[in-house]
Amino acid sequence: MKSIDLWNQLISEGHEIVEDRIYPVRDIYINKELVNRVTYPCRVKFLEKKNNKVTIELEYNKLYYSRFNKGVVTVNLVDVACGACGANYAKDLESFWKNFDETLELCHKALLCRYERLKGTVSDVAPILWQHGAIARLKKGETIDKLLTGGYSTISLGYAGLWECVVELIGKDLLTEEGQNLGLEIMRYMNKKCDDWNKELYLGFGIYGTPLESTTYKFAKCLQKRWGEIPGVTDKNYITNSYHVHVEKPIDPFEKLRVESIFQRLSSGGAISYIESANLEDNLEAVLTVIKYIYDNIMYAELNIKSDYCQECGWDREILIVEDESGKLVWECPNCGNRDQSKMNVARRTCGYIGTQYFNQGRTAEIKDRYVHMDCHECGC
Ligand SMILES: [Zn+2]
Repeated sequence: MKSIDLWNQLISEGHEIVEDRIYPVRDIYINKELVNRVTYPCRVKFLEKKNNKVTIELEYNKLYYSRFNKGVVTVNLVDVACGACGANYAKDLESFWKNFDETLELCHKALLCRYERLKGTVSDVAPILWQHGAIARLKKGETIDKLLTGGYSTISLGYAGLWECVVELIGKDLLTEEGQNLGLEIMRYMNKKCDDWNKELYLGFGIYGTPLESTTYKFAKCLQKRWGEIPGVTDKNYITNSYHVHVEKPIDPFEKLRVESIFQRLSSGGAISYIESANLEDNLEAVLTVIKYIYDNIMYAELNIKSDYCQECGWDREILIVEDESGKLVWECPNCGNRDQSKMNVARRTCGYIGTQYFNQGRTAEIKDRYVHMDCHECGC
């Protein structure tokens, strides 16, 4: 079988699986050539191309196998920007870079504390991990210290809210040329810091697009407390993940992936892009087209498809988020009006993961606000 035929077969079966609301297909549309440029994409399997044959396999080599991460500290970029500009769009870039330096140094110190805390840990604390090969095969009583430096493990500088940060600093977003340039400058600056820190002590510092599953709410509440409600910056109960385009922004899926791919290359310690999709059971060709675009253009991206079920009436399309009498966001079956969370199943991507537990109010608001990139926008059917 020609590799292109096999590719088509894999993708054909894969996107049917997606439509069946299971998600392993993500593992086959990671572009290996793009993956090779980075150090640690999120949960990697590869599409290997060898001798014109295509096989799916994990890459068991020194770079990937048994790697582990020592931890993450996340910088709230929106807070750094607000600290420089206040609530009046002062556009004070000089103060921003000064603030940013101080904040990053604080993150650096916190990450070094993690390293110091781990130093001296003996393999006996978790034998499956450290002695029996899950991560390493150390002797009994041996410390894990030699795995903490030199590249065997990584340690992450996380970041969140690049979108709001740039809006606060210059009043323009990442879809404008000026906004994109500033966003990229900020990303490169964090990369440069990690390089500098690695030169001092090689702990595998890397940039990580923090998943921020529930922390988005905490960050947003803290921002509002400290800076008030700044339109377009702190006026939501969530902030935008990593380098993402704001969830409310109407944008076609190809343009979103194109723009985000530029930033994703600078988020080498972990990143995921996604596009929101309506139920496309009747338009698998559209799914296939987007998957192919992902494969050709971006390191790691996925489709978000709603996966719900009402146990009261059997409704298996989207369960909606509505405001109840007290203003709280709750889930409601549009078919029978059921609001009992124990009698429905809801699955949504909270960033890297698909969550089936219910989410805090900030994350729920973010999910409610998501623009659907793949939908029949023309006819509204
Ligand atoms: Zn129902």
